[in-house]
Amino acid sequence: MHITSAFPEPIVKLNELSIAELRRLLDNREVSAQDVLNDIMGRIDAVEDRVGAYVTVTRDAARAMAERADSALAARRAGLLTGIPLAIKDNICTMGIRTTCSSKILYNFVPPYESSVTSRFAEHGYVLTGKTNLDEFAMGSSTENSAFQTTRNPWNLECVPGGSSGGSAAAVAANECIAALGSDTGGSIRQPAALCGVVGLKPTYGRVSRYGLVAFASSLDQIGPITKNVTDAALMLNVIAGHDPLDSTSAPVEVPDYASFLGKEVRGLRIGIPKEYFIDGMHQEIDHSVRSAIRQLESLGAVPVEVSLPHTAYAVATYYILATSEASSNLARYDGVKYGFRAKGKDLVDMYMQTRAEGFGPEVKRRIMLGTYALSAGYYDAYYKKGQQVRTLIKQDFDKVFEDVDVIATPTTPSPAFRVGEKATDPLEMYLSDIFTISVNLAGVPAISLPCGFTGGNLPIGLQIIGRSFDEATILQAAYAFEQSTSWHTRRPLL
Ligand code: GLN
Repeated sequence: MHITSAFPEPIVKLNELSIAELRRLLDNREVSAQDVLNDIMGRIDAVEDRVGAYVTVTRDAARAMAERADSALAARRAGLLTGIPLAIKDNICTMGIRTTCSSKILYNFVPPYESSVTSRFAEHGYVLTGKTNLDEFAMGSSTENSAFQTTRNPWNLECVPGGSSGGSAAAVAANECIAALGSDTGGSIRQPAALCGVVGLKPTYGRVSRYGLVAFASSLDQIGPITKNVTDAALMLNVIAGHDPLDSTSAPVEVPDYASFLGKEVRGLRIGIPKEYFIDGMHQEIDHSVRSAIRQLESLGAVPVEVSLPHTAYAVATYYILATSEASSNLARYDGVKYGFRAKGKDLVDMYMQTRAEGFGPEVKRRIMLGTYALSAGYYDAYYKKGQQVRTLIKQDFDKVFEDVDVIATPTTPSPAFRVGEKATDPLEMYLSDIFTISVNLAGVPAISLPCGFTGGNLPIGLQIIGRSFDEATILQAAYAFEQSTSWHTRRPLL
């Protein structure tokens, strides 16, 4: 590879590279942080009007951060992310930079504080490219629920990028940033990563601080990386993982160096294949690609074992009781007084009602109503409490399987990227697109999605690898072994 800023047209554009590749070039002073940022901004100018990944592009902040990165590089004080342009999902608070959750109700909200994950990024010298689009308050699977715009899938602009972190996944796939952060409550990192042909990792609940993540369903929400490859996911996790006194649910569990697990062989690794995830009527190309991926891991010495997660059938119902209940409580704070949008009203109560009626979109309202119903007196036992009990059963399914296997492999999604509008009028259809990712959140365990094939129509297919609690290392090890023995991760969309 020959890259120098003196070349008018480098063979490889800097925005096409990974964190690991750029780290080398930046540390060797072969390129500057400003060179990298210029290529990113050039790319945003070229494709963003078609992709629509960003709610806000932070050009000025990015330039200032790149200048600081160059000073740090010159002084040999570079951190792990110095000079690396990263995008942040717009439900993660950035001090002084608008954070909207893609909702009208927060369209003008500028947080007075910084999330812990972005504070850590800043300590390591990152460059913020902007805030990415999402389904309003992270509720959705297609990014069509954004109050501002529908993000498009870079592989096929007629298709959705998945959601709710669709902006982050599309920005990574389209080389409009080097990597990004998403949040995952029921699949929102892994599902868009799968649909956009990139890598997405949902860490164990409690692994990464949620301080500054706008709450959707607090017992399920977790922040994680969306990257071009497995190495970058490990590098990002190295920065964001670990205990944070500002988040009482963040776990004081030691954090290994995730990068040190890359390249470890998978010989003897036991891989559970849950029969409930390979069902009749499944999308044929997905079934075929995921089964080939498992055979590939087997050829590397891993041992596939058929397992059962018997309560899988209840996961979607359980999730939509618990997630909506928590959402109805979390979203009570948006009343026109403390944050964002305020409607006119004839008195205080009328102002509350008008603000919420005008400020929230239809899916958010649906969730608030479902959750309020599930929590209400007389129904609580039948819905919320029952949901909690089934959640325990789902978690116990995983505990039991992990007595016998090291990781579990499944498809990430039941179908590849669908067309914009295709499921928008059918909430149940949309909810079912998370059927393979939701149990992982209910159980609290970590999981990664990585590319494992393409459909005949050139849409990416994702392989999900699930691990034991706090064992992100083993899923990264398995994912890396698979990635390096195949070439799926090298394909990029032609935009
Ligand atoms: N698609 C799921 C939902 O709509 C998951 C969203 C998420 O993980 N934030 O709730």
